[in-house]
Amino acid sequence: MKSFYLETFGCQMNVHDSEKVIGTLEQRGYSQVDTADAADLVLYNTCSIRDKAEQKVFHRLQEGKRVKNKVFGVLGCVAQQEGEKIFERAPHVSLVVGSASYTKLGELLVRIEAGERKVTGLSLDTEDTFETPLTRRDNPHRAYITIIEGCDKSCAYCVVPFTRGPERSRTSQSVIDEAAKLAANGYSEIQLLGQNVNSYRDPSPAGWDFARLLDAVGSVEGIRRVRFTTSHPRDFVKEIIDAIDRNEVLCNQVHLPVQSGSSRVLAAMQRQYTRDQYMQRIEWMKNAKRNIAISTDIIVGFPGETDEDFEHTLRLLDEVEYDSIFSFKYSQRPNTPALKLEDQIPEEEKSRRLTILQERQRAIQMRRNTNLVGGRQEVLVEGSNSSTGQWIGRTSQNRILNFTTAPRPDGTAIPRERMIGNYLPVRVTRAGPNSLVGECAIAV
Ligand code: SAM
Ligand code: SF4
Repeated sequence: MKSFYLETFGCQMNVHDSEKVIGTLEQRGYSQVDTADAADLVLYNTCSIRDKAEQKVFHRLQEGKRVKNKVFGVLGCVAQQEGEKIFERAPHVSLVVGSASYTKLGELLVRIEAGERKVTGLSLDTEDTFETPLTRRDNPHRAYITIIEGCDKSCAYCVVPFTRGPERSRTSQSVIDEAAKLAANGYSEIQLLGQNVNSYRDPSPAGWDFARLLDAVGSVEGIRRVRFTTSHPRDFVKEIIDAIDRNEVLCNQVHLPVQSGSSRVLAAMQRQYTRDQYMQRIEWMKNAKRNIAISTDIIVGFPGETDEDFEHTLRLLDEVEYDSIFSFKYSQRPNTPALKLEDQIPEEEKSRRLTILQERQRAIQMRRNTNLVGGRQEVLVEGSNSSTGQWIGRTSQNRILNFTTAPRPDGTAIPRERMIGNYLPVRVTRAGPNSLVGECAIAV
């Protein structure tokens, strides 16, 4: 059994966990293949943040049921949440491992290789973070670094504290060493990851907080961009903005999930901040020297959310003028306190609110993007679009900027490898709600 197929669902934390799982498997002599059909070992790294994501995984498992002579494994959040129940629901599954137990993945694979057919790794009490030197990163320019795992908050709607265990930070030294190694290997952009990166607390005697860590990662030679996600408003301090203002390597982009514009709903959600406290953090960003792009997450239809509460959320959008938002209908999750709340909002009403919210935000984004027309942005070139002939770049503010370049004097096409990974100045010529269009005057 030496080939594996791995499909990843969910957030960037899962994507990065998968990179580490791939590294661990390759070290054990497995090779990755592109289809489940071609694999001996089929793994799904799963997400259970909303019911829809969870259903997708069981649907995939159902599809696999017909295939014989393969070993199936469920990793990640659904594995942690459902545990051994997965064996009942999908008897062809042999391996169930939650993300807090990935440090034991090697041992668990040995048992699978020895022929065991019901193997679990579900302990949540691990003190360790999942560090492996064998991470297999697919993007040659941008790399993720996990700085903190798990979550110690208890938002009433959220499964993460149950699926990812308690908060564990990595030492600042190991983060800096990893960033330096990545820079030496040609990576120029780093994305620091954690459920709440700004709750970071260095466990070593240095005792750094997140702002101090940001300063240090932003000073690693060869690193041109540093992003971080996600930040929790309660632990968001002004020193983070000061660090961004001091150092252009730290991208002028902050994702600060608000969830609701109503203090009453925020209290019911157990978010630990009020609307006013959240707005104070927004003020810090608006008053910064650099033009910081702000994005957020919003949940509509939390139990008991009235029309008036929802109106407060719409007004918050107008006040903050976010550069982008991720918006979701509230989804009931197992074990969470919000399950017991009365006054669940009907599905059609949640959909209605979501549509209104997204339309309001679309107009805001169109306005904000239009303000950038005529200006110049530096982009990291990430790819190309063969149907439009444009290059795809990303700005420091995390906007997508599709652009063309000046023709080369000899009329030849620019080779992809010369463009991808480059940082180029691009003049913005047009704006849409979700992206920009521009021209680069340089003949590369
Ligand atoms: N730790 C981050 C924070 O506190 O903002 C959020 C991490 S969570 C993986 C990403 C987003 O999923 C949340 O910000 C929230 O908007 C959304 N989410 C979480 N649980 C949800 C639920 N039960 N229903 C709908 N959306 C949910
Ligand atoms: Fe979930 Fe709240 Fe933790 Fe974010 S802070 S992961 S929303 S419990």
